[in-house]
Amino acid sequence: MNSSPRLPLSRREFVRRAALGASALAVSGTPVRAVAAAPAAPVGPPVPPKKLGFALLGLGKYASGELAPALQRTQNCYLAGVITGDPEGKGKQWAQRYGFPEKNVYSYDTMDAIKDNPDIDIIYVVTPNSLHLKYTLAAAKAGKHVSCEKPMALSVAECDQMIAACKAANVQLSIGYRNNFDPYFQEMMRIARWKEFGALKALDGEFTGGNQAGEWRTKMAFAGGGPIMDLGIYVIHASVLAANGETPVAVTAKPGPVTLPDIYKDVEETMEFTLEFANGAICNGYTSYTRKPKPGGAGANRFRIDYEKGFVNFPGAFNYNGTRADTSNGPLAFPGIAVGNNYQQARQMDDYARCVRDKVPTSVPGEMGRQDMKIIEAIYASAKDGGKRTLVKV
Ligand code: NAD
Repeated sequence: MNSSPRLPLSRREFVRRAALGASALAVSGTPVRAVAAAPAAPVGPPVPPKKLGFALLGLGKYASGELAPALQRTQNCYLAGVITGDPEGKGKQWAQRYGFPEKNVYSYDTMDAIKDNPDIDIIYVVTPNSLHLKYTLAAAKAGKHVSCEKPMALSVAECDQMIAACKAANVQLSIGYRNNFDPYFQEMMRIARWKEFGALKALDGEFTGGNQAGEWRTKMAFAGGGPIMDLGIYVIHASVLAANGETPVAVTAKPGPVTLPDIYKDVEETMEFTLEFANGAICNGYTSYTRKPKPGGAGANRFRIDYEKGFVNFPGAFNYNGTRADTSNGPLAFPGIAVGNNYQQARQMDDYARCVRDKVPTSVPGEMGRQDMKIIEAIYASAKDGGKRTLVKV
């Protein structure tokens, strides 16, 4: 989890100063011995840290509409290549548009050869959910660090395979939890971490969307489930962040009515669920592929947390860039970040590139994706009979 912008920094500074003081104390009283000065190292301009190369795998709506543009705003990484089903057409067009060499265009069948391409450090899997497992394993086999979209996979068992493969290949695995890098969400995480508003009391979240008939999101074999896998997961994930990383101890769930039977034959159309935390706090969650219009016409997209002594309310909680938040202390404001300019994905990929480059663990690892998948599996189990399912943390 990302550290907070304010308090942890000053703590870190405190620790740093304390450490400096301690080392100064440790040497005081030690006799000082004169040593010959070492020859001066040649002085040159500072070498900027290496920018890491991302290859996007699956050039659909999210990769082309959000990730590729975001990679034009990053400082620690850049778009170095692609893996696509259409290397001759789409692949070459992307190479021209984004200025990477055509040798960095791969098909799904040739992607093994990426292992010999030093331009590519990280492969970002952005395919339908059912293919996250296959391509994460392929990327790890090619010795590349992996970023994988949410939901991490179709089951906890698949998540386990992905985590094990990346460990065995000695590469990192991160999940595309963009909200963790949104400044407004990070402030909520800081409030939760330092219990600024006291204990967690209640949470309430909704996220809805829509599909055309026949889209992969409406097919169980591709999506692994309905809106819980796609949209409800945001409410689940945000709840765990608001609980400072604590996961729910029990869940209950109930599928909603099917109003579009031609589209939703295979996966649920709507799911209502509750997440119960150890201290008794309850999250009421709602997710649906039937848009639930709000004033202003948008689908439902909101998240509110009530703590003992205050609240944090995100009206458009899961927007790509327009997140903002009101709190019991007034609206959150970040000078220099206009609403609509949060650049979550750029921050997310920059952070991952820094982690890979500096060999520090990502704050959104595969284990975090697995944790959400475990909650989702319990939600589906409960939806079958409405009974409460308890969860044990592992
Ligand atoms: P999409 O259908 O627009 O794109 C999927 C891509 O995968 C396409 O380019 C398609 O050609 C490719 N693909 C490769 N093999 C395929 C196969 N066998 N069958 C079908 N397609 C195949 O989907 P999308 O909206 O870009 O979603 C992709 C992933 O990104 C999903 O896992 C989704 O949950 C995730 N996503 C995340 C966010 C977010 O905010 N983090 C937003 C949207 C989507």
